[in-house]
Amino acid sequence: MFANCHTNATEQEPKKVQLPQKPVKRVVPKPYVWQPPVYDTSKQYIYITFDDGPQPGTMACLQVCLQQKVKASFFMVARHQQLKSDGKQIVQAIKKQHPNILLCNHSYSHAYGKYRYFYKHPYMALSDFLVAQKQLGIPHKIIRLPGNSAWVRKDTLRATKLVRPICSLLDSTGYNVIGWDAEWRFSHTSANPIETPQVLADQIERFFTQNKTHLPKHLVLLTHDRMFRLPNYTDSLTKLITILKSNPKNVFETVDNYPRLKMP
Ligand SMILES: [Zn+2]
Repeated sequence: MFANCHTNATEQEPKKVQLPQKPVKRVVPKPYVWQPPVYDTSKQYIYITFDDGPQPGTMACLQVCLQQKVKASFFMVARHQQLKSDGKQIVQAIKKQHPNILLCNHSYSHAYGKYRYFYKHPYMALSDFLVAQKQLGIPHKIIRLPGNSAWVRKDTLRATKLVRPICSLLDSTGYNVIGWDAEWRFSHTSANPIETPQVLADQIERFFTQNKTHLPKHLVLLTHDRMFRLPNYTDSLTKLITILKSNPKNVFETVDNYPRLKMP
């Protein structure tokens, strides 16, 4: 083979132009293909979402989803990509797993933590989301608002008074906004999960049976990447998915397959 071709160069060929040993890899993005989903009425759909990456824990979450062969969505913050030395690699690793793993827009700045100010200035907020869309290179229009659960779909706009103006702007710009039905809460001091996997799995089942979701038979679960950065909590994520998988009714989907989104 020619793997070691440099050792074959002879002094009789001094004018040969040397090619760089490691050519720059060009990653050609695959086109985003979306098929209208078909639902099985005997199933219940779970959309696992991980928020605020890239951050410590993102790769652990990705690994668990790949090992467990479940679909999931990562709502990422463009500023975190910028600030983290391996931010771009992590975003690429998420993109590479499409369509089983979906990258979505969770703003550029995460409102810098000042949510009221952010939503009181909807045009500023819109431009923040548009910057994130560009920097993260997202080919579809699915957003989650920082610190607020709101819904914008084909025929629905459900939002509190504070976020209604940004939701209307996003709606006019063709965006969908995805909220959440259940949250795996975390300690605000340690970032570790509060509920055990069993408690959360029971809660999810209860939400389905008591019809406490935004849409019947569809449940969006909010979690944060950083909750699972430590091995024992990465294990908690695996346990939750294992419990949920043991119910044959449960199907895991990415949020672009949530019903009635505005899609190309
Ligand atoms: Zn967030």
